[in-house]
Amino acid sequence: MAEQTQHPTPHIVIIGCGFGGLEAAKVFKGKAVRVTLMDRTNHHLFQPLLYQVATAGLAAPTISAPIRNLFRQQLNVTTLLGDVRSMDANAKQISFVQPGSDVQHTLSFDHLIVAAGATHSYFGNDAWEQHAPGLKTLQDAMALRRKILMAFEAAEAEEDAARREALLTFVVIGAGPTGVEMAGTMAEIARHTLPGEFRRIDPASAKVILLEGGSRVLQAMPENLSEKALKQLAALGVDVRLNAKVTQIDAQGIEVQNLAAKQALEGKTAASWEETCASSYQIHSKTVIWAAGVAASPLGKQLAQSTGCELDRAGRVKVLPDLSLPNAPHISVIGDMASLMREVAGQSVPVPGVSPAAKQMGRCAAANVLRRMQGQSTQAFRYADYGNLATIGRNAAVVDLATPLGALRFSGKLAWLFWLFAHIYFLIGFRNRFVVLADWTTAYLSFSRSARVVAEADLNKG
Ligand SMILES: Cc1cc2nc3c(=O)[nH]c(=O)nc-3n(C[C@H](O)[C@H](O)[C@H](O)COP(=O)(O)OP(=O)(O)OC[C@H]3O[C@@H](n4cnc5c(N)ncnc54)[C@H](O)[C@@H]3O)c2cc1C
Repeated sequence: MAEQTQHPTPHIVIIGCGFGGLEAAKVFKGKAVRVTLMDRTNHHLFQPLLYQVATAGLAAPTISAPIRNLFRQQLNVTTLLGDVRSMDANAKQISFVQPGSDVQHTLSFDHLIVAAGATHSYFGNDAWEQHAPGLKTLQDAMALRRKILMAFEAAEAEEDAARREALLTFVVIGAGPTGVEMAGTMAEIARHTLPGEFRRIDPASAKVILLEGGSRVLQAMPENLSEKALKQLAALGVDVRLNAKVTQIDAQGIEVQNLAAKQALEGKTAASWEETCASSYQIHSKTVIWAAGVAASPLGKQLAQSTGCELDRAGRVKVLPDLSLPNAPHISVIGDMASLMREVAGQSVPVPGVSPAAKQMGRCAAANVLRRMQGQSTQAFRYADYGNLATIGRNAAVVDLATPLGALRFSGKLAWLFWLFAHIYFLIGFRNRFVVLADWTTAYLSFSRSARVVAEADLNKG
């Protein structure tokens, strides 16, 4: 796309319309600027409920909203569908392609806000991805939903007992919020949704195994809430294995090293062969889900090449306190792509990769762009931490709220109701909120899941 000739109105390009980019664009409402909001999808996605799509609880449109429609009344925002391939800080240009096309377009900017989020990290074992897909996009969620539902279908037809068992063994790797939600909900599907619908298998006999390399689930939560979450998972029938390090994943399943057993063995002078074997074991499974590692969008590397900025170990861009880049004040990086430390109780800790942080960064970066344009000094980003919540399944959740009077922590049914209404509140669009509430109420009363139909085209996928 050939850019228009010099335009007097400043042009701000925002890459990514996730939580950060969306908030940033809204700040420019009514301001004398032109904004181009570019995303490689045509929708804003509410990632915290992606696991509900992956487990057939909600249909995809209920957790997403067309970007073009969100900005129909903000006339200074132009929405462009484009996958950004490169950024040139000196020339102040980005290049992008549209889906299904190789034609490179360029677009000039005066200010750039990069909010392209994160992707999966397999810690250097990229070959694992084909056997253990992760959950980041709507496409991921729909592929997982198909995989989970088709495993039950294949098990119903399978004559061989060992193959049937592998089909009915579901493994989730990583016990952060996404892993815990996925495992808890899959156990519910197996124990409550599907029984009665199959004749040759008992879906309730399916194993759901949650593997965690660390010594507790939900490590971002206080220890007592991790323990409560562990108990709630066990009550749902999830087999949680802590200190379990995955060393190999292939089409047959996974190999796990029991770190606790390994440490115990290392303390001994002569371990028996059986003991050594016990520290490492195989799980035969046809459905393995990766919820363990996150890396920043590869656009971070692009920025490092273009501006010389530094990246952290997860590929996040080390930003200045006002979220701009050291050698490029006209470029800001926000959300899951940004690496910024803050002080908590005298300790330096990273701003977490969560939606409230991305939204707050979006607002801060946009306000700083406006300040810069008016010749004012920029303001440092301050993260307002409201706490953490995670759901585990029906009537099961943990909540750790930061209040002016101190931490408020609770778990169980009350926490679950809090989680549920908080997510409905933060969903975008009245229709989405209404449909989600109706679907969840029906699911709660009937144990059913509303989004189990898989289209013919998807049925034929591998
Ligand atoms: C499964 C899951 C569950 C989560 N649950 C929670 C939760 O319960 N609570 C919570 O606070 N946080 C949760 N998070 C984290 C939260 O969603 C992220 O912290 C937040 O989305 C980060 O916002 P962002 O704007 O940086 O990136 P995103 O919201 O990921 O948005 C990035 C946008 O950039 C676009 N994009 C990417 N690359 C390009 C490119 N090259 N060109 C153009 N566009 C591009 C993407 O399409 C996307 O729209 C969850 C995340 C996941 C994946």
